[in-house]
Amino acid sequence: MTTPPAPSSAEDRAQRLAASRAARRAEPRPQWQTAEVQEVIQETPETVTLRIALSDAPGFLPGQYYNVRYPVEGRPRPIQRAYSIGSSPLPDASVIDVTVKEMDGGLVSPKLVRHVAAGDKIEVRGPHGNFTWTESEGGPVLLIAAGSGVVPFMSMIRYAVVKGLSVPTRLLFSSKSADFVIYAEELGRLERQHEWLEVVHTFTRSPGHPGARYHRRIDLPMVADSVAELTARGSDVVALIGYACGAPEMVDLAEAALLDCGLDADRVRVEKYD
Ligand SMILES: Cc1cc2nc3c(=O)[nH]c(=O)nc-3n(C[C@H](O)[C@H](O)[C@H](O)COP(=O)(O)OP(=O)(O)OC[C@H]3O[C@@H](n4cnc5c(N)ncnc54)[C@H](O)[C@@H]3O)c2cc1C
Repeated sequence: MTTPPAPSSAEDRAQRLAASRAARRAEPRPQWQTAEVQEVIQETPETVTLRIALSDAPGFLPGQYYNVRYPVEGRPRPIQRAYSIGSSPLPDASVIDVTVKEMDGGLVSPKLVRHVAAGDKIEVRGPHGNFTWTESEGGPVLLIAAGSGVVPFMSMIRYAVVKGLSVPTRLLFSSKSADFVIYAEELGRLERQHEWLEVVHTFTRSPGHPGARYHRRIDLPMVADSVAELTARGSDVVALIGYACGAPEMVDLAEAALLDCGLDADRVRVEKYD
């Protein structure tokens, strides 16, 4: 009798992907709901957080996103866009924060940033996405973000704080300059309060600014520094889990850098804001 060959890791991954797709198809699809904007918080000159009270709150995992649809003049139907959840699902998943950066010439984001006010109704649907982290994933965790790509990571960090976790976590965060760092005050405070959290800034348009360790776009040596510093404290690179989120070019670069640094492909997760 011949023993069937063990599935290759590629086959194994394909099987797991098919199983997770089948499981997702079996789940009830979230429906559109009309929710209320409770508060609008100005985060940076071009970014606001919309604090949204859901009427139907199925819960969510840190890192997931909601779709928002919004009427746009000259368009027959509202236009839909995805926005990551920045808040923690704990203690209350019925109020979600979405943080929107205004894109010049964009159809939806300028409206959400400039025209939405507390008390407005807004149509949302979610949660969606597999770009998630909870303590069951382990760590140390390296989170690589540019601009609004920090939003899902803020949900993960806030969740870890609420749950009292202490998984070593480094956020490598690229912003134009100090004024454009989303969640700057809270990140600074959390970093001072929690030894497990480190925030490393890079500023792309503020040469020499002392608030940042680097002054250029995220690149391979920068990612390699973070991997080396996380592993220098005794953990094996195999345990590391890497996430990258933001503009597609940055995410592609960060993903390649993480793999180059020796992270296991199964422990590299990406979300592209395209
Ligand atoms: C899973 C996911 C999560 C996301 N989370 C967030 C988040 O938390 N925060 C956030 O701010 N964003 C997030 N995004 C991005 C968001 O969904 C939108 O893509 C973003 O807000 C831009 O939408 P918009 O309608 O304003 O711009 P769009 O109308 O889509 O335009 C985007 C850009 O393309 C340009 N453009 C449009 N049409 C043309 C054309 N014909 N020729 C040349 N240029 C053109 C516009 O000038 C603009 O600069 C996320 C995306 C994904 C996929």
